This record gives sequence, C-alpha cells and structure tokens, in this order.
Amino acid sequence: MRPWNFSAGPSAMPLEVLQTAAAEMSDWHGSGMSVMEMSHRGKQFIQIHAEAEADLRELLGVPDDFAVLFMQGGGIGENAILPLNLIGRGGAGKADYVLSGSWSNKSYKEARRYGDVAIAASSGDSWEAGEAEQGPWTWFPDPAIWKVRPDASYVHFCSNETIDGVEFTDWPDLAELGAPNAALTVDASSHILSRPIDFSRTGLVFAGAQKNAGPAGVTLVFVRRDLIGHALPICPSAFDYSNVAAADSMFNTPPTYAIYMAGLVFKWLKKQGGIAAMEKANAAKAQALYSYLDSSGFYANRVHADVRSRMNVPFFLADEGLNAEFLKQADQAGLLQLKGHKSVGGMRASIYNAMPIDGVNALIAFMQEFERRHG
Ligand SMILES: *Cc1c(COP(=O)(O)O)cnc(C)c1O
Repeated sequence: MRPWNFSAGPSAMPLEVLQTAAAEMSDWHGSGMSVMEMSHRGKQFIQIHAEAEADLRELLGVPDDFAVLFMQGGGIGENAILPLNLIGRGGAGKADYVLSGSWSNKSYKEARRYGDVAIAASSGDSWEAGEAEQGPWTWFPDPAIWKVRPDASYVHFCSNETIDGVEFTDWPDLAELGAPNAALTVDASSHILSRPIDFSRTGLVFAGAQKNAGPAGVTLVFVRRDLIGHALPICPSAFDYSNVAAADSMFNTPPTYAIYMAGLVFKWLKKQGGIAAMEKANAAKAQALYSYLDSSGFYANRVHADVRSRMNVPFFLADEGLNAEFLKQADQAGLLQLKGHKSVGGMRASIYNAMPIDGVNALIAFMQEFERRHG
C-alpha cells in the first residue's frame, strides 16, 4: 500500500488517475504519441481539452454565461492577472479586499500595484489600528462588517485559507452590501471541487490545480463573460482574459499535460458520484478529525468552529518540544508531509478529495497512539 500523503500542495492524486496516466504515457488511445508530444492544435488534444472543460462544467454546474479558462501562472499569477483584467472596469480603478489569512494578504499586496485597493475587512488583529496585518488567522469577517465601496470594480476574498485552515462558504450578495455593480472574486485554489459553488454570487473564481484538481501547471479560471474585455493596457496579451477566452485557452500553448491530468481527475470525480458525493465524504473526514482534536487535551486546532476548513486542518501539540518526534514517527508510520506551514507552526493535515476516510482514520489512530506514549 502507498503511504497516506497529507501534503498541502502539490498534493496526493487519486491512485487510479496515476495508473491511467502511466498506462497511457507513451501511447494515448492508439495515437502513437504521448499527450506530451501532441500538438495542442491536433484533433487528439482538442478532444482532451474539450472533454476536460465539459466534465468540469458538468461537475460544478457552471452556467453558460461563465467562460472556463485553463491558464498558467498559478494562484499567485492570478493575484496580478485578476486586477489587470478587472480593476479598470467601471472606470474608478478601485478594488476592495477581505483579509482572512496568508493567501488573501498576498492577493491584496499584489493588487495594490494596479490601482486603488482598500481593505474591506480583516480578521487580522491590527486592522483597526492600521498596522501591518498579522495572524493568527482564526476567524472570518462576517460580510455584515465588510466596508465595500459602491464604486469598487470588484471585492476579493479567499474562500479557503490553505495555510491557516479557515474556510468561508456563505458568499454574500454584493448588492445587499451597497455595491450592486461590483463583482465578487474568489480564490478557491484549495477547495475547488470539494463542495458546490454558488455561481450566482460570484463573478470570478480562480484555482491553481495542484491542491484538489490535478498537478501543478494549470490554473482554472471561471469568469462571467460580461467581466471580460476590460483589461488595462499593460496587461500581457497572454493573460488578457478576452484573448484567452476567444482562443479557447489556446492563445498560447497551454499546459497540455496538466490539462490532460486534470481531465482524468474530473472523470474520476464523476465516477465517485460527483461533487455531492465528494462533499459528503469531505464533511465526514473533517468531522472525524476535528472531533478527535476537540476531545484531546494533547492536540488542539485554534480555528473558530464555524469556519474550520474541511480541506486543511492545522493542529498543535500541547508540548511543541515533541514536534520533531511526532513528524519522524508519522513518517515511519506511512503518514507523510504533516509539517505545518512555517508561518503557523505545528502540524497541518490536508485532506483533499483524493484522501479517503481510511487515511484520516489512520492518522487519528496514530495520533492516539502517540498521545498514549507521550501524553
Ligand atoms: C496554493 C495556493 C495559492 C498559490 O498557488 P501557486 O500555484 O503557488 O501560485 C494561492 N492561493 C491559495 C488559496 C492556495 O492554496
């Protein structure tokens, strides 16, 4: 059996997907070519791309008025590509950001290079004091306290803070917050495809694939078509959503192999019963791990219970002096990549779609045994 891999990203892929890719590595469907060796303009890759997009649309129920783009540059690339495309829309050059952890802070800092960017709300302790934002990031600002400017072009937040373990799914209606013309934009990199998305609430969702959708190298962008076509003149052509959408994600050579692999993940998801089935499984996995953490005096998760991430579970040992021993023994027990992000410390278990409940139960059993011996 392979070890259980709790990496935050790039992260575990379904074994079946890896095996299919291995079997098709040197000859894709009798074409005599590896997917890596095909022209992106040839009929084989056109089919791979079209199926990937159709499966993705079906899985998430993406409305027709949204374009689905397969881009490059990752989540951090989108932190710039998004403002370059959207901040000029409406003319005021303004955007508002909600800060709830490491990733939304990065998005905010990058966007400030391109316009008048303000903080709509923050769960950072020093926000009201106007100081640099610091963690710990353990809650999510309720939309009721967001200060949204009526002429903002868009309002951005991160729906799953991968590093801090904060997930927010109750997406607000911006008209009710006084900004009917603003688009809600969301970095969903680390929980895309783990649960449904309410596209009626958002104008743009982006997600780097390497957490829950495939290998690194491709970024999924879902963008409402009326938001396309407002790029700033300095926006690189290859990152202008209107060019990418008009060329069906083939304005330049797309990351063909990563799109193929993501496509295999989409087919695997459909076989598992789609997003509804994944959501149920993910809820059960998270429930098992959090209830164990809460029942233990030896381990702790500090995130407010209503916004705890189903995908990324940071936790701490009461005695931090045992961290190295915990990681060493976990590794020996076949439980890989549990070290927390350096900005948070402690441990982090990322339990994406590809992690079955058996892996979570194996982690809990190991933690119980470790507590018994060291508690
Ligand atoms: C991983 C991650 C990113 C960064 O993705 P890159 O592909 O490294 O650019 C951005 N946002 C979130 C929420 C992430 O989890």
